[in-house]
Amino acid sequence: APVILWFRQDLRLEDNPALTAAAAEGPLVALYILDETRGLRPWGGASRWWLAESLQSLEKELRRKAVPLILRRGPAAKILAEVIAETRAKSVHWNRNYEPYAIRRDKAIKSDLARRGIEATSHNAALLFEPWTVKTQAGEPFKVFTPFWRSLQTLPAPPRPAPAPRKLDKAYKQPRSDKLADWKLKPTKPDWAAGFAAAWRPGESGARLRLEEFLAGHLAHYHEKRDRPDLAATAQLSPHLHWGEIGPRQIWHAVKALEIASGDLVPGRAAEAFLRELGWREFSHHLLFHWPKIATEPWKPDFRRFPWRSDKAGLAAWRQGRTGYPIVDAGMRELWGTGWMHNRVRMIAASFLVKHLLIPWQEGEAWFWDTLVDADLAQNAASWQWVAGSGADASPYFRIFNPVIQGEKFDPDGAYVRRWVPELAKVPAEFLHQPWTAPPTLLAAAGVVLGRDYPEPIVDHAAARARALAAFEKMKR
Ligand code: FAD
Repeated sequence: APVILWFRQDLRLEDNPALTAAAAEGPLVALYILDETRGLRPWGGASRWWLAESLQSLEKELRRKAVPLILRRGPAAKILAEVIAETRAKSVHWNRNYEPYAIRRDKAIKSDLARRGIEATSHNAALLFEPWTVKTQAGEPFKVFTPFWRSLQTLPAPPRPAPAPRKLDKAYKQPRSDKLADWKLKPTKPDWAAGFAAAWRPGESGARLRLEEFLAGHLAHYHEKRDRPDLAATAQLSPHLHWGEIGPRQIWHAVKALEIASGDLVPGRAAEAFLRELGWREFSHHLLFHWPKIATEPWKPDFRRFPWRSDKAGLAAWRQGRTGYPIVDAGMRELWGTGWMHNRVRMIAASFLVKHLLIPWQEGEAWFWDTLVDADLAQNAASWQWVAGSGADASPYFRIFNPVIQGEKFDPDGAYVRRWVPELAKVPAEFLHQPWTAPPTLLAAAGVVLGRDYPEPIVDHAAARARALAAFEKMKR
């Protein structure tokens, strides 16, 4: 009897345990369901762009193995039932998603299918370790990263990734499929995603290429250069990981193998620093799994009383990269232009929103959700709460980033700012991160009049810092 492989955020053929199991069991129906009733909110705009590209790539990879990708739109439970009726399949395989809504949905689907004599089997493709397997000695989930990471490293290594099945057998009777183009996932007028294609190659082969390039190039210096947005020295694998075009086990084993094979070329410290970030990814999913509320509510309950401000103009300036702080603006424009932002700049820009402007982190989280190609419920919410000080194991509130110092430290020559804020391209490095301190004649020579070509800072750093600390004291009272 035919077996349904239900693709979700696991858009790959290698290291795909649901695919391996389904292919071993019987002829395949490969299904992707666009469920717009999903979760907290539907996919954001940038995610839709990525999804369209990634599905197109998956369709191509499957076609090479003579299996069509069936595309259907609607509530997942209803579509699955329809496809089962159309194909007379007796079994369904999928890889688990650990978001609260997905867990509820999948449980309901599993018991519904069981009632009708259809077997449903789920697998792990998304995480190194299932969120319930990493526990403190008292058997509790971890609330702090470092012991979580230490404990994770004492577990047996995650299983080696399985290769893509060499041959696939397609089910004789295939259900009807939508056309990808009819889903209209990509923007047209205006095409705000025009710059995305130059920055990314969505799909499994693009993910593999990105990993290979990173391993051959930047990994060896990752520990020293990961905080430099001007050097693009990180893996840029986050959207590929989010969509499951590559799995963390593949990355883990590739790094370990290279570390051994390369001798001293890839120092242990570099590999460790990189794998630790995969650890932060695991930790975010662990937190969301055990405390589903962190997607929308502060993990530390005190923060429910935080005196947030409502500031429409401030929020708009932040979103558009017009705050007058070049490093913040460069980040927000990189985000708009490519659907991605360097981690150090995400921290600076997020901190500016929640501390300098006192705008609730949920506003920033929602904007990132809409504009990031790697927008991920667990990683986005956990990271925003880390920055806001409201999260588990968060950055201490009183540590308020100074965007000028951050810019000077991590973009020392200003190459990153010059790229994304071209109106400041000719300002000398000495003033680039605080153009308002430059003599007007010097700015004029660089072709800049503040307030005309580039905004004056929308808040004064020292005043904003004092206001944020006062707000924090008020919350604690
Ligand atoms: P690398 O440095 O090469 O790291 C490798 C992988 O580790 C990444 O691909 C990512 O999956 C994971 N990782 C790295 N840093 C973190 C981190 N701090 N927390 C969790 N996982 C991490 N990441 C997302 O994938 N989706 C999001 O929606 C997201 N929102 C964020 C929001 C804010 C406010 C902040 C500060 C960070 C956010 N991050 C998010 C985490 C991080 O910025 C990105 O994962 C990273 O920039 C991706 O680039 P990279 O692949 O080059 O990372």
